[in-house]
Order: sequence, then structure tokens, then C-alpha cells
Amino acid sequence: MDNCVFCKIIAGEIPSAKLYEDEKMIVIRDIEPKAPIHLLLIYKPHHKYISELNAKEQQEFGECLNKFAKMSKDFGLENGYRIIVNQGDNAGQTVPHIHVHVLGGKYLEFGNF
Ligand code: AMP
Ligand code: ZN
Repeated sequence: MDNCVFCKIIAGEIPSAKLYEDEKMIVIRDIEPKAPIHLLLIYKPHHKYISELNAKEQQEFGECLNKFAKMSKDFGLENGYRIIVNQGDNAGQTVPHIHVHVLGGKYLEFGNF
């Protein structure tokens, strides 16, 4: 997808340190971290909304989450972490390409909504 920052990172057109990559996803650090550890799990196909995923993509996206969960200790998240997927304007989604925020590295209060 033209002009999508995450498609460009996936394609290597924008430099970014990929902490993990396979055929379905990449994991990078967020450039504006909101927690001591703030990763982005980016599913490779370009879609803005989870609701746009077809049946095969739904399964793949789920598998990406499961794979990440099994690797989470490798990223220093052994004491837990929070995952967030912003969807649309009220969530403040700024990049229209499905990505999962992974936050951790300290105890995270839950609130301020
Ligand atoms: P969202 O607001 O949920 O769409 O999240 C987009 C996130 O992408 C924000 O937290 C940004 O800080 C992050 N971001 C934008 N551009 C980059 C980039 N080039 N490398 C890493 N993270 C980025
Ligand atoms: Zn994209």
C-alpha cells in the first residue's frame, strides 16, 4: 500500500531495527515509547481494521499473537505485558495498518480513559 509507513518498514524502504521477522509479521520498537518496553507487532498484509481480515488472515493474525506470546520472555516481558490494538478515530489510530502495541517493563496502571 503506497504511503503506509508500516508497509514501507516491512519492505525495508524505511530503516527500522526488526527485533523479529517471519513471513507473517515483524516486531519493532515504537519510536515514541509509552512504557519502558513498547513494541509493535505488525501483521504484514495491509489492512486498517481487524474486521477487514478474511478467514485465512484471521487465523494467521491469531497465530501471530500466539507466537508472540510464546516469545514474550525473549523481549524482557517475563513479568507480563499489555497488548492494545487501536481501531479507528476514537482509539486514536494514527497508522492505518493493523498493529499490536505491546507494553511492559514495569507495572502498568489501568485507567485514564
Ligand atoms: P496507533 O496510534 O495505534 O496507530 O500507533 C501507531 C504507532 O506507531 C505510534 O505509537 C507511533 O509512535 C508508532 N510509529 C510511527 N512511525 C513509526 C516508525 N517509523 N517506527 C516505529 N514506530 C512508529
Ligand atoms: Zn500498510
